Amino acid sequence: MTCLALTANGAEVTLLSDTHMSQSTGFAHAAGLMEPVATSDPRAPQWFKRTVEFCAAAANDPDWGIEPRSVLFLSDHTSTHEQDWFSQVPKRAAEQADLRGGRSQGTWFDTYVLQPDIASRAFQRELVTAGIEFRARNCRKMLSIEAIASTAVEKRMDAFVLAAGLGLAALQDIDTVIGRDAGLTAGLGLTIRMPLAELPLDHVLMDADDFTYLIPQRNQVVCGGTNIPTPHDDELVEGKSAVAKRLRAEWEDDVRRRVRRLYPEVGPFTGGDVRVGARPLRHEVLTALTERFGIPGLILGGAGGSGWTFSVGIADDACTFLSEHLDASAPGQLRLQAA
Ligand SMILES: Cc1cc2nc3c(=O)[nH]c(=O)nc-3n(C[C@H](O)[C@H](O)[C@H](O)COP(=O)(O)OP(=O)(O)OC[C@H]3O[C@@H](n4cnc5c(N)ncnc54)[C@H](O)[C@@H]3O)c2cc1C
Repeated sequence: MTCLALTANGAEVTLLSDTHMSQSTGFAHAAGLMEPVATSDPRAPQWFKRTVEFCAAAANDPDWGIEPRSVLFLSDHTSTHEQDWFSQVPKRAAEQADLRGGRSQGTWFDTYVLQPDIASRAFQRELVTAGIEFRARNCRKMLSIEAIASTAVEKRMDAFVLAAGLGLAALQDIDTVIGRDAGLTAGLGLTIRMPLAELPLDHVLMDADDFTYLIPQRNQVVCGGTNIPTPHDDELVEGKSAVAKRLRAEWEDDVRRRVRRLYPEVGPFTGGDVRVGARPLRHEVLTALTERFGIPGLILGGAGGSGWTFSVGIADDACTFLSEHLDASAPGQLRLQAA
């Protein structure tokens, strides 16, 4: 999203990545609900608002895979229903009869759900239109921020933007450049996808107290979830060890039990496509500038469970910040590298 916003603001962008973006965790695992979860970032209301505005327009284009959805948001805690970001969307108190899962309070609000595997088509189309084609020669794993900066200097770029998700934590010099504030851990998320035809549901159910949800995308319902913090380099993130496999079975049982509690209509709730993916976890999104390599670099990440929800707002802020910082008075002259 930041690439597209930068080109819309006149930048000439080269995209580097170790995989095509449709293979990234965000595309493969995200439930795509536009709601600021697992964050206490003060910018959440403003970023949420921008993405909701984007979704309202993009929902008319089937390639984005965006559906307007009402959410029944449940929590026993009044303060959870009074979070600042609620002010950005239409909402109303739930009736007593709406409450489920044993929760004592509920709020209905209107937002959007994006189905990432469908949206990848729209992204691809928009990138091509913007002249940013992901070419084989740009497919590489970057090992350090210094290496990214040198590539940008070599290609005579004016700046680089680093938005590598959990990959940020593995860069050799992240602690030297950002300091201990980088603080990127992984939040393991288990979800179970069911075809919408087998589990017809036209609204989102979200139990905020135990992080249980049913999220209808366009043609499937994503049921979850977990958000289990672990070090970014823990063997659980890779998911191949015997311990990871045993825990995965336990998490799956737990998610199925909680989903049945929230939505008994789901029946025995067997089968489905079970996925475990790691989100980058920070309570506040990392937005840092480095100038130590002789070229300005903007480092963005750690949006955790809200990466899609904040994507448009973060992209807007990145453009504003870079154009002010680089004093890009001549649109079309700015050259940026995004990784
Ligand atoms: C189970 C689950 C459910 C979720 N549900 C939601 C939801 O309902 N709503 C919501 O808003 N968000 C949700 N998210 C969160 C969202 O998917 C993440 O916040 C998002 O993936 C982070 O986006 P990103 O672009 O920062 O990173 P990523 O999607 O991880 O993209 C980073 C890219 O950088 C590349 N890269 C990484 N390291 C390197 C390197 N060293 N060199 C070159 N390239 C590199 C990667 O290959 C990848 O293409 C969910 C996440 C999970 C795991």
